[in-house]
Amino acid sequence: MNIVLLGAPGAGKGTQAKKLVSEFGVAHISTGDILRAAVKNQTELGKQAQKYMDVGDLVPDQLIIDMMKERLKEDDAQKGFILDGFPRTTAQADALKEMLDGLGKTLEAALQIEVDFDTIIKRLSSRRTCRDCGHIGTASEESCTVCGGEMYQRDDDKPETIKNRLDVYAKQTAPLIDYYKDKNLLVTVNGDQDVEDVYKDVKEAIK
Ligand code: AMP
Repeated sequence: MNIVLLGAPGAGKGTQAKKLVSEFGVAHISTGDILRAAVKNQTELGKQAQKYMDVGDLVPDQLIIDMMKERLKEDDAQKGFILDGFPRTTAQADALKEMLDGLGKTLEAALQIEVDFDTIIKRLSSRRTCRDCGHIGTASEESCTVCGGEMYQRDDDKPETIKNRLDVYAKQTAPLIDYYKDKNLLVTVNGDQDVEDVYKDVKEAIK
């Protein structure tokens, strides 16, 4: 299973990716998670990425492409992967195709999780993330329901940054919907349902 997840921030890509990973044993490759870890550890990549992430802009393509070239070669990605948050531009999508060609792999689907922007704004404003295990929850969870860790609000889930992230999505990432449609890889599910109902549709769509 080699799949790309498409959808605005807050559409539920991370949540659905985690479910697919636990059922099918493929690798969950989230560029946002990799970058947040790099920022936390103040690696060279983290230092370069931070200023873009803080304001909700995209990190430059070449940094992301170099990072993904390495990530896709790792052992866990050989049995399949769910790409969550990558590609986010057509240049990244072209680079992904080249990387996969080089590795002798093909993309099976680009799965779009569709949610309207009003719902996204509400979701992102109340989204909380576990500092320890990355579980995604809401402001009503005082501690993580999975591991008991501390739930925090990502800086980029604050109202002033959300608007820019959605503008960036509309301008730079939404064109990937047509990009993958043209390649006959696009499948779309309605993300404005309960997590389990979305997951049912996801599995049906990628069958
Ligand atoms: P996410 O957790 O996917 O919402 O990503 C958080 C932030 O990381 C984004 O707002 C971007 O600044 C950066 N980022 C994640 N993935 C990418 C990507 N594929 N290209 C450029 N920037 C990215």
